[in-house]
Amino acid sequence: MSDIKRAGGPGSFVIGEEEKKELLEVIESGYLFRYGSDDDPRFKQKVATLEKEFAELVGVRYAVAVNSGTSALLTCLAALGIGPGDEVIVPGYTFIASISSIIMARAIPILTEIDESLTLDPRDIERKITDKTKAIMAVHMLGNPCRMDEIMEIARSRNIMVIEDCAQAAGASYGGKRVGSIGHIGAFSLNIFKTITAGDGGVVVTDDFDLYERAFGFHDQGHKPLRTGVEIGKRSIVGLDFRMNELTGAVALAQARKIDRILATLRQKKKALKEAFSAIPGIGFRTITDEEGECATLLTIIFKDRRMADAFGEKVGTKTIAHSGWHVYNNMEQILNKQTATQFPCPYECPQYNKEIEYHAGMLPRTDDILERSINVSIGVVDRGLGSAFGINIDSTDGEITAVAERAASVMQEIS
Ligand SMILES: *Cc1c(COP(=O)(O)O)cnc(C)c1O
Repeated sequence: MSDIKRAGGPGSFVIGEEEKKELLEVIESGYLFRYGSDDDPRFKQKVATLEKEFAELVGVRYAVAVNSGTSALLTCLAALGIGPGDEVIVPGYTFIASISSIIMARAIPILTEIDESLTLDPRDIERKITDKTKAIMAVHMLGNPCRMDEIMEIARSRNIMVIEDCAQAAGASYGGKRVGSIGHIGAFSLNIFKTITAGDGGVVVTDDFDLYERAFGFHDQGHKPLRTGVEIGKRSIVGLDFRMNELTGAVALAQARKIDRILATLRQKKKALKEAFSAIPGIGFRTITDEEGECATLLTIIFKDRRMADAFGEKVGTKTIAHSGWHVYNNMEQILNKQTATQFPCPYECPQYNKEIEYHAGMLPRTDDILERSINVSIGVVDRGLGSAFGINIDSTDGEITAVAERAASVMQEIS
């Protein structure tokens, strides 16, 4: 309904007996660490099982479970060997972690325009590529896959790596392939606002053994996958600790097994709401790159002008995406105007890279124009930070869906 009280993603609405059972098994076993005695039947290996099942779900050979989506992205960058002086193409409309992980890898985020899919505009990617470009971070924003055919073609022809940021698109597919299996490496998040959740958590996926080995080592102090070969002399890289524990793994496993049911429910509810909204004059929608494959977690309306979008938002108690806060580069004061330089000498400030990168509000005019005219209506992700405080949730009834559509229709009449 128009004032949904509870915030969170669809997975958080369907936590139940399955999660409880998996979690209790871990508590009763006493094995909370992801590594235990493999020959003790009490050790349930939830994290290892999650990795196996998640890789199967996505359709890749390897997965590494980590403690957040942000660490998943940093692990992807480390696996690809991205570092000082390297440029990474990233959209100006994304969660800040996409950008901050690039900065923490001491590489240079190159902010790039979106198009009406609210994902990277391939034409602007072409314009932003230089001889320093090492990767494109393709963010599948709001559950809608990026234009991966075009992005992969650009990447192939220029010998650039593709990281898929799938944090908002777990379970989505593009052209019959699950997101995360299309680029070279992919990152997922399990925080509370995502399709499935374990409170926090993340997963890295790849089909490439070398990338897997590096990702695993980076997330666990340089160890080889599953800590085989912990003997001195076998660690080839320096890593950190981004490990997932068994408690998180247990809940994540139960949620991952629900993902297709969650998506089926959301797709059905979105279809009903979108059909009802389609009948309202003056309401248009963002471009969906794969109608069957997208997550259907949100319905994004694009109005013909800013005034209409602002007026609509005000009436229904929400904001345009441009003013929703978190996910728009214009609202990232940590990035703009070089404030990052106060934290540590920033790689994009070093004269040796021969490049001065400026970040400032208004630098992506097409992105600004689209986001100022856009409003997110929730289907399954209820998140004021995304601007989706108006709409329905995974439990909404047909009657509630009709009521939301009627409210939108009457608001449109008032403001037209
Ligand atoms: C949520 C999110 C992340 C980060 O995930 P956390 O688990 O919160 O660290 C990264 N990228 C995008 C696009 C996100 O929405």
